[in-house]
Amino acid sequence: MLRVRCPVTACERELLRVERAWRCAQGHSFDVARSGYVNLLRPNDRRSAEPGDSRAAVEARFRLENLGVGAAQAEALTRFVAEHRPSGSAPVLDVGAGTGMQLERLREALAGEACAVDLSTRACDLGARKRPALRWIVANADRVLPFFDASFGLILSSAGPKHPSELRRLLADDGRLVLVVSGADDLVELRTAVQSTGALQDRVPATLQRFDPWFTCAAHETVRTRMRLGPSELLDLLASTYRGARASERGRALALGAMDVTFSAELLLLAPRAVAPSPRV
Ligand SMILES: [Zn+2]
Repeated sequence: MLRVRCPVTACERELLRVERAWRCAQGHSFDVARSGYVNLLRPNDRRSAEPGDSRAAVEARFRLENLGVGAAQAEALTRFVAEHRPSGSAPVLDVGAGTGMQLERLREALAGEACAVDLSTRACDLGARKRPALRWIVANADRVLPFFDASFGLILSSAGPKHPSELRRLLADDGRLVLVVSGADDLVELRTAVQSTGALQDRVPATLQRFDPWFTCAAHETVRTRMRLGPSELLDLLASTYRGARASERGRALALGAMDVTFSAELLLLAPRAVAPSPRV
């Protein structure tokens, strides 16, 4: 059973569900929203009134998912994890869960408890409505996450860089961390069309280097799919991918017809090092 830690600084007692709220023994209380998520963001965790991805970006991502975007990658990821991590019933965490599709597939395959963290309240609200089997928590994965040490058997991170030391703290010693990194040719057609730059950048070496003090790479696989998307879908893709796409880019995207788009991702399965340096967050 996953135990949630009070996010109030220097409190860090266990939060227990009492009716429509989570409370600790010190009296800190966090209401459960009608859709089922709980917001554990502290005031110093947020830099803006609406932290995380914008509402427009979140909603675009859910629309794309309904068209099947991301399904092939979620399937490949589930197979990749099952192949390298066939057992283990410890809870699964997704830091930056987005729509929760990947985590839900993993939960179905691994049959464990699954916790979806996202910085966006809107993402957690829509996610909790669509996927009530996941436990949705608004929290900042770039800071200290509201869980006790070694709580998870598997952690998934596909939404940009995170603190390796914090992920190591949360992972059981025999657990695994799965990173999903954008492939060099991910969305290259769209990038070329709207930004006039199709630069190919391999992010794997730098990622592995960042995680190296805490983790070693146990498996690596590339997933690549192509999908034909129409103009409104390309706009959604732009909105969901590039935070605050510039007006000129939107204008160029509007002028596009249907286009074949490459989706590519590098799946990295990391094992924690035996002796971890003490976390510094
Ligand atoms: Zn507390």
